[in-house]
Amino acid sequence: MNNNYLLLTPGPLTTSRRVKEAMLKDSCTWDDDYNLGVIQVIRRQLVELAGGEQGYTAVLMQGSGTFAVESVLQTVIGLQHKLLIINNGAYGARIVEMAKRLGLSYHEIDCGEVSQPDLLVMEQILQQQSDITHIAMVHCETTTGILNPLTEVAELSQRYHKSLIIDAMSSFGGIPINVTNLGIDFLISSANKCIQGVPGFGFVIAREDKLAECANRCRSLSLDLYDQWLCMEQGQGKWRFTSPTHAVLAFAQALKELEEEGGISDRNQRYCQNQRKLVSGMRKLGFDTLLDDSLQSPIITAFYSPKHQDYKFKHFYTLLKDQGFVIYPGKVSQSDCFRIGNIGEVYSRDIEALLSAVTSSCYWQIKQPTY
Ligand SMILES: *Cc1c(COP(=O)(O)O)cnc(C)c1O
Repeated sequence: MNNNYLLLTPGPLTTSRRVKEAMLKDSCTWDDDYNLGVIQVIRRQLVELAGGEQGYTAVLMQGSGTFAVESVLQTVIGLQHKLLIINNGAYGARIVEMAKRLGLSYHEIDCGEVSQPDLLVMEQILQQQSDITHIAMVHCETTTGILNPLTEVAELSQRYHKSLIIDAMSSFGGIPINVTNLGIDFLISSANKCIQGVPGFGFVIAREDKLAECANRCRSLSLDLYDQWLCMEQGQGKWRFTSPTHAVLAFAQALKELEEEGGISDRNQRYCQNQRKLVSGMRKLGFDTLLDDSLQSPIITAFYSPKHQDYKFKHFYTLLKDQGFVIYPGKVSQSDCFRIGNIGEVYSRDIEALLSAVTSSCYWQIKQPTY
């Protein structure tokens, strides 16, 4: 049995040995070594990575990525506001679900699961519903791996003076994003995606003047992003409630490794190479991608399940797992797919090894002898 799989999933993902080793230390949450020495440094680095030179801050929030998304919606969108939500997958749908539960007023643009938002339709809605104050969109919709047109949507948002909220959970750190140029007010991501840390917290890169307007708006105590920000500012890195100390140390190490790799653009190139190698190899083996190459992100790729009657995902999955690779089931409701991620500590040679494992795992293609 192999216990040390390569995770070809969109997070938690395969982390480096040094990231795991960084957790072999206990931190004291009221000491300067942790707050000034680690948290404040991470916050500054995140703002820098997002290109938020002036007027941006980073706030860390306990929990998985969804908690950070919900903290933004709760804290930022008041009852006087209206949110336009672009939905083309499970994570867009999750934002709609949050808006429903929070009783926010919102308008959903449902694009289906395999198309990008239509910018003309979006503009018409912005013209017709002038009470819309905020726009929320997922950057890379991890459901399918589709990359949404961030530059174009950001341009529309700026032209119509809307406040832009981007769920960049699975793209930040792996695809260059400049919050200043794009006019993004709140960008959300988490520790265990393209920064290549371990799960435990999310973070929000926020425009300070926009966040400063949000005092007393959040109806949840623990998810109040404004209060968390105030505490981190005034306490110089202090979290309001127990901080995920080990995950934070791993994250600090992951940020170092991102820098060693050459920063986001170099990491992006590695992911793009992984993805291209994966797709061309899989196509040679007879697999088809769900998306057209023009819509595809370098983060994760969805492949149609083979049509053969003998194919079962679970069996295919187990054969690959026995060879040290963990792939991901599909999440698209309309088509039968499986997904392979290529983010994390995953290199060209790993993709090559995966492809040869796939080759030997296509058990349904092994023909019975005919006489
Ligand atoms: C991973 C992810 C999230 C958060 O999911 P969690 O399971 O809460 O970490 C949100 N949006 C996108 C696009 C994601 O890929």
